[in-house]
Amino acid sequence: MIFEPEHETMPPERLRALQAERLRDVVARVRERVPFYRERLAGVSVESLEDLPTLPFTRKTDLRDHYPFGLFAAPMRDVVRVHASSGTTGKPTVVGYTAADIDVFARVNARCLAMAGGGPEMILHNAYGYGLFTGGLGLHYGGERLGMAVVPVSGGMTERQVLLIQDLRPDLICCTPSYALTLAQEFAARGVPPEEISLRFACLGAEPWTEAVRAEVDAGLGIRSTNIYGLSEVIGPGVSNECLEERSGSHVNEDHFYPEIVHPDSGEPVADEEEGVLVFTTLTKEALPLIRYWTGDICSLSSEPCSCGRTLRRMSLIKGRTDDMLIIRGVNIYPSQIEEVISRVPGLTTNYRLVVTRSGTLDELTVEVEGTGHDRELARLVKETTGCTVAVNVVPPGSVPRSEGGKLQRVHDLRRL
Ligand code: ADP
Ligand code: ZN
Repeated sequence: MIFEPEHETMPPERLRALQAERLRDVVARVRERVPFYRERLAGVSVESLEDLPTLPFTRKTDLRDHYPFGLFAAPMRDVVRVHASSGTTGKPTVVGYTAADIDVFARVNARCLAMAGGGPEMILHNAYGYGLFTGGLGLHYGGERLGMAVVPVSGGMTERQVLLIQDLRPDLICCTPSYALTLAQEFAARGVPPEEISLRFACLGAEPWTEAVRAEVDAGLGIRSTNIYGLSEVIGPGVSNECLEERSGSHVNEDHFYPEIVHPDSGEPVADEEEGVLVFTTLTKEALPLIRYWTGDICSLSSEPCSCGRTLRRMSLIKGRTDDMLIIRGVNIYPSQIEEVISRVPGLTTNYRLVVTRSGTLDELTVEVEGTGHDRELARLVKETTGCTVAVNVVPPGSVPRSEGGKLQRVHDLRRL
């Protein structure tokens, strides 16, 4: 089902007109209410979407420099909630919501759950962390808005999660892909086959993942999973989701969050389908509107029509965030590239981590992966596909740390210790 067909299937020309109108509005608002933007946007004129690339980017450092509330565009009297980013890449940033923002937050998440296969008659097992992290509450409100019965489990306590899934028989689960793998492995360890697990759908996100992990999660839990993407600075989860029909690119809720892809070095817009850094301008947010927010996430954008009927453009799976990129002896490499290669070597599993060490002045990357044999084959394939020389350490099952509920840290960087 499509939760808000009027906006999700709006003809592209009308959608562009709506976006342009909202862009003019948000630029006027931040200029009036946020000193940082008043200064930043002095003298520029924004009449249409074509003017957007002339505006400066807003970066995480700008939020940090104005920590905690300095970029808010609404008075505290109108702010009804704050969240913070997970702090994956340093000091967390604090974000705020007015009542209208919370309403949008619920609606875009209801859209995403519907894209993932959800509907009002279903039970949602929500294993995203509740609290400052946006994942738990974001999908919670979205589920309720869609009319689902939400089980607010939050992350962690895997044994209890498994029991709850067996007893309450939910249809849809939300969590990180790495945690879905943990759950699948726990069911397998208990001898519960996928066909006995009630789950049918999953909204997985908050960290990069690949088709290899999707295949494993889908087989292990007996589901069809879709990718959900979001970040606290833009709103939290609910920025985009794959539709169940295609599962190829996530429909961006672009009537609220306007996406651009730009070249990582020059910042210039790149063509449709070309990879670059994802940048968002929030079109409707009140408490914390952001103009051209540099997410650091690498992906591409597609305007190809979709069989589900939605006209919202689609973004590809995230290859990684620029901060996650490793530079090993001059070669740039993302963990997801290694994950993809691992999946092609028989005998190896996607339970892996990347250990970075330094000997003398040279950085070394060791792929620690569970499975049997084949270490030379993996090293050879990594070299062939990425140009990066790595060491491979094949370890027995259970030796690589698993997700215990939240985002899994794949890179273990011993250089920083
Ligand atoms: P933090 O930046 O501290 O991790 P957030 O919790 O706001 O804080 O996380 C947002 C980030 O999580 C995104 O910028 C992106 O890097 C990552 N992310 C979220 N959803 C996905 C997804 N579906 N695929 C890949 N990465 C994702
Ligand atoms: Zn679609």
